[in-house]
Amino acid sequence: MIDFSKGFSRRKFIANTSCFGAFYAAARLIPLPALAAETASDARVAATPLLDKGFASVRKIGNGLYATISDPSKGSTTISNGGFLAGKDAALLIEGFTTAAGASFQMDALRMVSQVPVKGALDTHYHFDHSMGNSFYGANGVALWAHATAAKRIMDNYAPLQGADKEVVLAPFEKRIRDAKSDTERAHAQSDLNAVSSVFQVANATVLALPNHPIDPARLPMPIDLGGLTAMVESHPGHSGTDMIVRVPEQNVVYTGDLLFNGWYPVCFDEKATISGWRDTLKKFAALDKDTLFVPGHGQICGQEGVATIREVFDDIAGQAEKMYKSGVPVGEAQHRYVVPVKFKDFPVFAWGFTIGPAITKMYAEWKGV
Ligand SMILES: [Zn+2]
Repeated sequence: MIDFSKGFSRRKFIANTSCFGAFYAAARLIPLPALAAETASDARVAATPLLDKGFASVRKIGNGLYATISDPSKGSTTISNGGFLAGKDAALLIEGFTTAAGASFQMDALRMVSQVPVKGALDTHYHFDHSMGNSFYGANGVALWAHATAAKRIMDNYAPLQGADKEVVLAPFEKRIRDAKSDTERAHAQSDLNAVSSVFQVANATVLALPNHPIDPARLPMPIDLGGLTAMVESHPGHSGTDMIVRVPEQNVVYTGDLLFNGWYPVCFDEKATISGWRDTLKKFAALDKDTLFVPGHGQICGQEGVATIREVFDDIAGQAEKMYKSGVPVGEAQHRYVVPVKFKDFPVFAWGFTIGPAITKMYAEWKGV
């Protein structure tokens, strides 16, 4: 079983949160894997990055197409992946990242290759690591695109943390650690506390900037003409209820946001996350061209093998959960009993209660027809 909170004593934990957050401390142990051989040898993918700052690097992955890939082990400026598309007439930026400095970094990379006006910056969904750097775009007059409900979700989820009493926010998570019935439950509760502490810290360090260009999913798919380069903005269910992807059909490239985690356990905690919806979306990704290049929300650039792997992860969670469901294990216990198989042992788990736990809880609810 993977648990990144192991080895973090309470004192150490407090020391870590005071500077950069416990998740980032843990993330330092998870280096970004190198490009897979198949991706590295893909003619579309540049051998060397255009710009590399450690915490993220930007690489050309097609004609006018660039991927920003984060390495949280080297810093928390961006955390999520992103990228940009530069046509003859306009550019589209993808993601607001965790900090304004992260969005600025990506803009610098765009300006190294193109001076065209920026049509917009799209948050693929509202989560903090994709939206907290939005203020950079606001300050620079770049329209902020997102799912029609993303602005509200940012306000509902992050504004209440601003100026809040940290002890009050963290108290229920501290209580879960105290009340844990086993070492496993305690470790899971600790990983959740670490994650919430990190989100609290980021939210309080951020001037929230809300998307001002809401996109109604009923109007999608929507073609975006950038001049000799056409992107499709699409919405699919799964990760957050606000998920958008950017697809470039002519070049078989997809920016998936968090609908694809490559080599990570999927983050499933969102109240609007749907496991069956997400697995259907992944099935659609798997049905795209076999040479499709994916820029996932987290992890390295990948081909169809990355989609196949996350589908296997969901299959494995579902397989273990179904056995427990059928033998009458209550959901409260089942969510802690999943065992990470050896083949996924190096996959980062953001926090148990944000990934595997809610995946199992949501699967149980679907089977019960709740
Ligand atoms: Zn997310």
